[in-house]
Amino acid sequence: MAKKDYYEILGVERSSTPEAIKSSYRKLVMKYHPDVNKDSDASQKMTEINEAYNALSDPKKKQQYDMYGDTGVGGSQGFGGAGFGENQQGNMNDFFRQSGFGGGTGSIFDDIFGAFTGGGGRQRNYRPKPMGRPGGDISFSTNITYLEAIQGKTIKIELDRFTKCTDCSGTGSKNGTSPETCSHCKGSGYVQHQEQSIFGMVNSVSECSNCNGTGKIIKDKCPTCRGFGRIKKKTTIELNIPPTVSDGTNIRYQGYGNAGINGGALGDLILNIRYKVDTRFKRHQSTLVYDNIISFTKAILGTVVSIPTIEGSERIKILPGTQSGKEVLLRGKGLPNSRRRRGDIIVRIIVDIPTVNKLNRKQKKSIEELDASLK
Ligand SMILES: [Zn+2]
Ligand SMILES: [Zn+2]
Repeated sequence: MAKKDYYEILGVERSSTPEAIKSSYRKLVMKYHPDVNKDSDASQKMTEINEAYNALSDPKKKQQYDMYGDTGVGGSQGFGGAGFGENQQGNMNDFFRQSGFGGGTGSIFDDIFGAFTGGGGRQRNYRPKPMGRPGGDISFSTNITYLEAIQGKTIKIELDRFTKCTDCSGTGSKNGTSPETCSHCKGSGYVQHQEQSIFGMVNSVSECSNCNGTGKIIKDKCPTCRGFGRIKKKTTIELNIPPTVSDGTNIRYQGYGNAGINGGALGDLILNIRYKVDTRFKRHQSTLVYDNIISFTKAILGTVVSIPTIEGSERIKILPGTQSGKEVLLRGKGLPNSRRRRGDIIVRIIVDIPTVNKLNRKQKKSIEELDASLK
């Protein structure tokens, strides 16, 4: 096959800037893309254009092409599998978005180029995947009292979680055996095949379905775990809840989750902390409000009252002449906030004014005398 001149195909000079090459490529895509151009040779032309742009847009490949010609950059085969990366696909999609072709054409590119990347995956370098797969996290929720939230607590929980199979040490292979190389992909984890596309025949690479891309097959499976390397088991574990946790906190315990498949990494356990309701208080995040009711006579004369707190109780002084609705602040005696500092307790003094029918005759009389004396 005659050597193609990439510069000629793109209509640019050797000295052209990357911007000029890009701009020229964009114009050609607009002209020859088979969605637009219905000529029978449009797709062949498009293949050439892409091939040329693939070579000249990459400084390394351009240098190689300038020195050795097209064979060094994948040659007449077009997209040489690994040579055609995501970046290229991104460029093309960008062009179509900018050119007002809409999302529809983008998906055509995704379809075509998806084949190069193993079905739209993010795999760029075709290496076998590790056999072990991560175990995954477990979520668990627990309710604690206000005091436990402040002081911390050790809890015991029972979980149904995957644990490493001890019979095969988590490998999944029957004791003493090891996984065999996958015959389908010869251990590479990927298979290549040719596909017909609107750009002509393209090499496509996809994950080997026989070994799920790992390149290995467990022939002699461990009978206990059926080859997975882990088994589900009821387990009781102890967890330390640190002091000063706020309501709704998620604490991550690394490695307390599910055991991985075939020796993969352990997942984590995520413990969600919820406060138990304490009916003595009204709660606004880390602030607690306590309503303390006093008689109107105590409000006039002043008194000392005992206020419940999270840790116990506290005595506060009510000054003579205290009005209903007065607030007394117990600073730092409230609940932990998300920054692990404590909020306040607000004590609201409510003065109880008795209705006349709740008073006996003697009480009513003294109030009347008091009332007369105040005039
Ligand atoms: Zn395979
Ligand atoms: Zn096993």
